[in-house]
Amino acid sequence: MSTIRTAVAAILMVLAAVSVAAEPKANQLFGAKDVPSRQKSQPIGFYSKGCAAGNVQLPETGPTWQAMRLSRNRNWGQPEMIDFIRDLSAYATTVGWKGLYVGDISQPRGGPMTSGHASHQVGLDADIWMLPATNLRLSRKQRESISSISVRSSDQRRVNGNWTQAHAAILKRAASDPRVDRIFVTPPVKIELCKSARRKDTKWLQKIRPFYGHHYHFHVRLKCPKGARACRTQTPTVKEISNGGNGCDASLNWWVTDMLNPPKVAKPAPPAPKKRSARDYTMADLPQQCSAVLTAR
Ligand SMILES: [Zn+2]
Repeated sequence: MSTIRTAVAAILMVLAAVSVAAEPKANQLFGAKDVPSRQKSQPIGFYSKGCAAGNVQLPETGPTWQAMRLSRNRNWGQPEMIDFIRDLSAYATTVGWKGLYVGDISQPRGGPMTSGHASHQVGLDADIWMLPATNLRLSRKQRESISSISVRSSDQRRVNGNWTQAHAAILKRAASDPRVDRIFVTPPVKIELCKSARRKDTKWLQKIRPFYGHHYHFHVRLKCPKGARACRTQTPTVKEISNGGNGCDASLNWWVTDMLNPPKVAKPAPPAPKKRSARDYTMADLPQQCSAVLTAR
């Protein structure tokens, strides 16, 4: 009897060990979903640790936009994000562009991704290309092969000749939108915007956040929509709200200073690697509601 019990216990232990070892990664599970969940739309969790119920598709082509890299199937977001892109792309036509080329938003059900991005998980993040939209009749194939442009000089200290007043106007418009929480741009763009902004009208600059990369696109992050109770709001750091809140103070100079002192920091150090990245998450790392998002029809 006791030998049977021991044997059963041993088998159970082996099964438990196997199930832990085989715990599927959340990015594989979410990456395998081609369509959104038929649920009420809501962002769940945090931008870099969550998922999205009831995402809607940004149409591949609209009157003032085209979604790029369609093979990735990341032109999905919360309704607030899709509305925002419609609005900002319409505005882009008033400053001489045909509209916007839109990069990744999120997967049909959000969640961690198998490539790129730590965030973009809740359907409230979108990448907008720096390449001005000039042609809104690009084929699927062209949308795979065309590249965006960088607006950063090769020494990384300033914007380059690709930077235009239209870029500045579009970023100001986006940052002034009450739906927007923050916008990530390469530091030279923030420096340039701080230089050219009129003295009295700089509050919107608080939302423009200098960040590594982000010279081929800018990244718009929306606030949790009203009533989205499962969505975790991002709290600003003290540094972000210091000095009147526009972020144009000395805290921005680290970029140029570091670039000018190659012995100290030859290259800006990449952010310290996190112990576990979004690609390591299993379903246990995500909010519980994400399991329902994954299994919903
Ligand atoms: Zn992004």
